[in-house]
Amino acid sequence: MIFGVHMPLKGGIIKALTDARKELNCDTVQIFSKNPRGWKPAYADHATTADIKISLNMHKISPLVLHSIYLINLASANDEIYEKSVKALAEDLLRAEALGAQFLVTHVGSGEKEEALKRLLDAIDRAYTETGVHNTILLLENSSGAGKHVGELEFIGQVIKKSKWSKNLGLCFDTAHAYARGFDLSSRKGWNECLKIIKNHVGMEKLYLIHANDSASALGSKIDRHKDIGKGGIGLEGFRIMLNLPELARIPMILETPKKSIDDDRRNLKVIRKLAVI
Ligand SMILES: [Zn+2]
Repeated sequence: MIFGVHMPLKGGIIKALTDARKELNCDTVQIFSKNPRGWKPAYADHATTADIKISLNMHKISPLVLHSIYLINLASANDEIYEKSVKALAEDLLRAEALGAQFLVTHVGSGEKEEALKRLLDAIDRAYTETGVHNTILLLENSSGAGKHVGELEFIGQVIKKSKWSKNLGLCFDTAHAYARGFDLSSRKGWNECLKIIKNHVGMEKLYLIHANDSASALGSKIDRHKDIGKGGIGLEGFRIMLNLPELARIPMILETPKKSIDDDRRNLKVIRKLAVI
């Protein structure tokens, strides 16, 4: 199975990729496209695209996943935020394509349902058309459903089906968000219900990536709080079930569990890798 983690970029991208392979033996890595809490690029990273590609090759990291900034809201009814979001998405797509990143993950955002769908479809169309990007696949991540968040699996399925860029779109399934949204992923029944919705509304072939996180918040609470694997509501049994589902065996899994140091990733990876072989 393909496991990886979200790596911080404090020491630069090359260090993140090197540590991911040498310290954690990750096959896949996710990084932020830029400072996740601001609109402007804020990393003092002087690595060139060529340097990064060499490092990816050397450490055999594939897929590389970029995650867009948190401020992006491609469904926003506010024109200023919307325009900034479309621009940020286009920049992220260009960066992802230049690095050879197979996937760019973004949250779907929030807004009024019908208007949100129109805005999202338009944003995706503009970003792909304006950039000419054709290799990087944009993955829409399911949300925990707080406020007016529109990231339900059914909604994501609609976006993928209705978009002109359907073949460039897919789903990133976050287990903690699904649990907070009301799918009881601690049980086989909950997993079956969830997979049925993915199959019927999105299509299994559109599920490209899993964010494997346990949930610190309660089932159906709609609160997005990640926890160490096995220590939240999903629990060890829930992850054991996930890792034994044949439908998910080929899907890369990235941990976004809480971390103060690389030891936290080491511990969580050990837990999930152990569950995968039992
Ligand atoms: Zn996630």
